[in-house]
Amino acid sequence: MNGRLPEDLETGCCVVGGGPAGIMLGYLLARAGVRVTVLEKHNDFFRDFRGDTIHPSTMQVLDELGFLDDFLKMPHQEVTGLGGVVGDFRFVAADFRHLPARCKFIALMPQWDFLNFVSERASKLPGFDLRMQHEATDLIWDGDRVGGVLARTPNGEIRVRADQVVACDGRHSTVRAAAKLELQEFGVPIDVLWFRISRHAGDPEQVLGRVNYGKALIMIDRFDYFQAGMIVPKGSLDGIQRQGLDAFKDTIRRIAPFLDGRVEELHDWDQVKLLTVQINRLRRWHRPGLLCIGDAAHAMSPAGGVGINLAIQDAVAAANGLAGPLRNRRVTEPDLAAVQNRREFPARITQAVQVRAHNAFANIFRQEGPMNAPWQLKAVLAIPGLRRALGYAVGIGVRPEHVRTPAIRQ
Ligand SMILES: Cc1cc2nc3c(=O)[nH]c(=O)nc-3n(C[C@H](O)[C@H](O)[C@H](O)COP(=O)(O)OP(=O)(O)OC[C@H]3O[C@@H](n4cnc5c(N)ncnc54)[C@H](O)[C@@H]3O)c2cc1C
Repeated sequence: MNGRLPEDLETGCCVVGGGPAGIMLGYLLARAGVRVTVLEKHNDFFRDFRGDTIHPSTMQVLDELGFLDDFLKMPHQEVTGLGGVVGDFRFVAADFRHLPARCKFIALMPQWDFLNFVSERASKLPGFDLRMQHEATDLIWDGDRVGGVLARTPNGEIRVRADQVVACDGRHSTVRAAAKLELQEFGVPIDVLWFRISRHAGDPEQVLGRVNYGKALIMIDRFDYFQAGMIVPKGSLDGIQRQGLDAFKDTIRRIAPFLDGRVEELHDWDQVKLLTVQINRLRRWHRPGLLCIGDAAHAMSPAGGVGINLAIQDAVAAANGLAGPLRNRRVTEPDLAAVQNRREFPARITQAVQVRAHNAFANIFRQEGPMNAPWQLKAVLAIPGLRRALGYAVGIGVRPEHVRTPAIRQ
């Protein structure tokens, strides 16, 4: 046995986490001829909390990879503008119809469909190995260099040795904690209560959110039901529960009167999941042998629905920078630092905007009665070109990435 467990693995790149960042990175590296093992702790991608937005710049990446047309054949909705309703004032804040991209819309699609789509294509590549129900629990160190990860599997613990580990394990990243990388937290005043409610034909069209009576409700259309999120002050769930489920249902009714009747589908607090919102960022995204990207490097809030796009763009940049060194089995610290240098700026700018957006919620929470749209909102919306500019900021984002890795036949 030579001290090895029978199931030890050796790979070129061990990607921890099969979310948008990890699956896209795994695909791109395998396509570029790198042996890559993706570890995902769950046994499928079918989870509700992931967010459903596929942005124009992500679809541009799919187009560069040659599978946009197939992607668009899957059931989805095309949202050409994002807006909301404050009181009874309905507005569009971001207009995607003029974007310099093939898809001038956000595609709304359950994230598990997107992840299944990319991972199915990846599984056809000889270098790609996706291991479900493999949870990274710790790092393996060779001196001060990360040499792999320990993973819990249904058959016990295994060691995955790798030339390079990339942490894509999201905002509660185990890997970054094990690496003791320093995290900067930016206070977030909100949490989200996440629940489903059925959708009927003739319901109002998709909007970003409804704001009234000191509350905000996000509703994502998933064909026969809405994935709904009530934005509440951080730490307020206990108080909301003490007021009772009926009071919670009344709040939903007041913000979205067309849901009257359907709110009765909520009969237990178990149907309402608390999603804690965080914004944070690593000062340094890497150590020798380890790189963090996506939410593991910079946790994004749901504000603007841009976190998935940033995660994908990080993956493209990481693959562009690391595929060559990984093929030569010589990834250096400057290679890893170059990925951080390229992606930190977009993360910083986007998080700064999210922090400002959260501060606006603090004002909303102070109001109790029926709300009217503030004049400031109307004045800002009247600025010429603003909707197009916001459309670009949300749909394409800061520093969009393009696939530069080759497709290597093996
Ligand atoms: C309530 C809420 C709603 C949101 N809605 C949207 C939205 O609509 N649009 C949007 O763009 N963004 C949204 N976001 C942000 C978005 O979810 C993230 O920015 C994005 O998912 C980050 O992708 P990622 O691949 O880096 O990480 P994640 O999507 O978090 O993926 C991490 C993956 O790693 C796996 N994993 C975790 N730990 C381990 C481990 N130890 N070993 C193995 N696997 C592990 C997880 O199971 C998961 O599959 C939302 C965030 C919140 C909190």
